[in-house]
Amino acid sequence: MKSSSVKELLLTAPTLQEVQVNGWVKTFRSNRFIALNDGSTLNNIQCVVDFEQFDENLLKQIATGAALRVTGTLVESQGRGQKVEIQVKEIFVHGGADPEAYPIQPKKHSLEFLREKAHLRVRTNTFSAVMRVRSALAFAIHKYFNENGFYYFHAPIITGSDAEGAGEMFRVTTLDDKNPPLDENGQVDFKEDFFGKETNLTVSGQLEAEAYAMGLGKVYTFGPTFRAENSNTSRHLAEFWMIEPEMAFYDLDANMDLAEDFIKSVIHYILENCKEDLQFLEKRLLDEEKTKPQAERSEMTLIEKLGFVADNSFKRVTYTEAIAILRNSKPNKKKRFQYPIDEWGADLQSEHERYLVEKHFKCPVILFDYPANIKAFYMRLNEDGKTVRAMDILFPGIGEIVGGSQREERLDVLREKIAALDIDEKELWWYLDLRKFGTAVHSGFGLGFERLVLFATGMGNIRDVIPFPRTPQNAEF
Ligand code: ATP
Ligand code: MG
Ligand code: MG
Ligand code: MG
Repeated sequence: MKSSSVKELLLTAPTLQEVQVNGWVKTFRSNRFIALNDGSTLNNIQCVVDFEQFDENLLKQIATGAALRVTGTLVESQGRGQKVEIQVKEIFVHGGADPEAYPIQPKKHSLEFLREKAHLRVRTNTFSAVMRVRSALAFAIHKYFNENGFYYFHAPIITGSDAEGAGEMFRVTTLDDKNPPLDENGQVDFKEDFFGKETNLTVSGQLEAEAYAMGLGKVYTFGPTFRAENSNTSRHLAEFWMIEPEMAFYDLDANMDLAEDFIKSVIHYILENCKEDLQFLEKRLLDEEKTKPQAERSEMTLIEKLGFVADNSFKRVTYTEAIAILRNSKPNKKKRFQYPIDEWGADLQSEHERYLVEKHFKCPVILFDYPANIKAFYMRLNEDGKTVRAMDILFPGIGEIVGGSQREERLDVLREKIAALDIDEKELWWYLDLRKFGTAVHSGFGLGFERLVLFATGMGNIRDVIPFPRTPQNAEF
């Protein structure tokens, strides 16, 4: 007999038929009611057991967490809650779960506790909802690019280049770290390594994406990236997924238009396709908010917030305009910013970004035309010689969600910048080739997938929107 998912049984299966379903026990009440869940939906199917017809030893194995196959008749439910339930005829126990030892009991667990149980937390309502929304967002991302003429291209994970020059890389080597071969200067001799040079886990697929855009036109990568961020924030992971579109013949304005349209489109997708999970997450957030003082509570519910972002224009502001606003602002009556903005040229801290988004504009903001000296070397220099065609998209409650730019397409200007930074041209010979042979205006951006999932689910910590978070001292799972 073919098994059905719980979702099919609850939504589409006709009643008075024999059905079979597999899943995990959420609760087993009064030796009679099994609430079974299989991850296909937030809801459980109730399975009604006439315990006199079942062996005592079998019933004993049915506890929260056990995996079962249940066969029976789908009937209209007498009680409240779901419309249908199963009158059970047969139960097969795939695997029991000792109630003394199984950590995921029906009571509410803290998110911190569940982080220690990353391998089991997806069996809770919160995490299954988050991970289904995550999956839907990933699908929506591919769908958007596919429908808009982009090719999905795969950047290498192991690279010899450091795109950002930020020095936050995980080194990859086959050399014996205790006793590495040394060259004549006493330095580690990477020529002896498997790759014959020093290699790292990628921090971004951008440089390679540029190469592919300059041949396929519009491309995107969507893969894991790695940063040895030794900071414990709720917005940074050492391993995170990044979406990086790159487009030939796009200037910064076209890049900003695309980024805004793309984000709105994927949010629309989950508003239409993840209603049940979003409603659950919204309720969860409302319960959490009740514990806060009125002034700190959000003015909008989760779904209202998503709708607002999906249906309203993002505010576009130059860095120079933003600085003027920040100079004349106080985050609240008494306090200045922890790092007051006094000079043009200073890098914005997250307190400034969040002030602009949450207090001043009260909507997503695209900041652009940053000072050249605080941005990466590959960004296109403006005619003023001081600013570059960079943009960051800032989101309420999140801060930076996107970093992007128009790339420097002029060989001579790029060379000057590389020289000024003391980067060896030989390291970037292939990147310079792209400017020697058929160069053109091009642009792209990087969107941190987990930051998008954070926003979409209303979760507060990036560790709770990725299955197995990688943070300092944390790679147990
Ligand atoms: P931040 O200022 O938040 O540290 P960044 O400017 O260093 O971010 P970029 O190099 O611009 O990050 O990367 C592009 C996007 O990747 C960011 O806008 C953000 O959404 C995401 N991102 C960057 N670092 C991380 C990280 N450690 N964990 C999760 N997402 C990240
Ligand atoms: Mg950073
Ligand atoms: Mg940044
Ligand atoms: Mg950035």
